[in-house]
Order: sequence, then C-alpha cells, then structure tokens
Amino acid sequence: MVGVGGIFIALGSNLGDRAGHIRSALRELEEAGDVRVLRCSSLRETEPTGGPPGQPMYLNAVAELQTELSPADLLARLGEIEQRHGRERTVRNGPRTLDLDLLLYRDQVIDEPELTVPHPRMWQRRFVTEPLAEICDAQRLAAARALRPMVLPRSQPLPGGGPARSVGNRNSE
Ligand code: ADP
Ligand code: MG
Repeated sequence: MVGVGGIFIALGSNLGDRAGHIRSALRELEEAGDVRVLRCSSLRETEPTGGPPGQPMYLNAVAELQTELSPADLLARLGEIEQRHGRERTVRNGPRTLDLDLLLYRDQVIDEPELTVPHPRMWQRRFVTEPLAEICDAQRLAAARALRPMVLPRSQPLPGGGPARSVGNRNSE
C-alpha cells in the first residue's frame, strides 16, 4: 500500500547521461517499494536559468508519485537519490547530474527552512509548468495554483492575549 497520488516532483539534469540520470532516478524511487511512479511527462530540453554562464542545456520532466512517505521523508529520499548520482552542490544554480524537487504534495502547504511546498519558484519555470500540464488536469492545476502559505507577521500575539509566537520563517532568510 503506497497511498494515493497527487504528489508531483520535478526531475532535471544537465551533466553526463542526462536522460539516463532521469530514467534511473524514476526506477530508484520505486526500489524500496513504498513509492510508485504513476506517470511521467515527456523529457524536454531547456535553457539553463540562473547560475554560471555557459552551462549545458537541461533535460527536464515532471512525475506524479503515489506514496505514504511524509513530505520530509520523501524529500530525504529525493536527496539520497541525488547523492547516488554524484550530485554536488558547489555553485548556486550550477550544473548538476540530477536535481529532484518536490513541487506539490496534494493540497499541503509547507513553509519550513528546508522544505517549501508548493515549490516557491515552480509557477515561474516553464520547464516545470509545461511538463506538469502534460500529466495534471486543468482543474487540479488551478487548485494547486491557489495554494498559498499562511504567513502571519512575526511575533503576532495569539487571539485571547496568549504569548507571542513566531510564524513564518522566510522573512529571516
Ligand atoms: P535548487 O533545486 O533550487 O536548484 P537545490 O537542489 O540545491 O537547489 O536545493 C536547495 C535546498 O532547497 C535543499 O537543501 C532543500 O532542503 C531545499 N528545498 C526547499 N523546498 C524544497 C522543495 N520543495 N523541493 C526540493 N528542495 C527544497
Ligand atoms: Mg533541487
């Protein structure tokens, strides 16, 4: 039993055997038996955005997963697979053998320092929105676009005069 779908990840590669990295990542996701890949978009070649000049072109895809792993556990799994593919984080937005990002986790909104869902830059990236639209129907896409983190001002007193609490952490970045 691996739960229901509605979980979308982005896959990208611009080093080495790009299609090979993406295809084997999809296989590796299913290896432990607690994740199923329900569908995957076509692979598309895209220009690199940001990062150092002269980077090779990317191959990108989006896949829908079915799993009962929590968002944090799924992110950890994605990181393990990136590591197996020799992913190195040296330069921000630099070239990479494999980048696996969690785009959507059903209707969940997560605003943690190490995990933001929906992925904060996904709607500005055609290399995400185009493959996503291939495998996700318009109604679901519209619902996903409407998901917003509820970020309250820092140290807002709780109703009823309780102690101040800190909500939202993007302001501190
Ligand atoms: P990017 O994918 O933006 O080029 P990285 O792959 O190096 O950059 O990821 C940087 C950090 O982003 C990771 O350590 C991870 O904790 C964090 N992160 C926050 N939200 C997400 C998300 N939705 N999917 C993947 N990583 C995320
Ligand atoms: Mg990433």
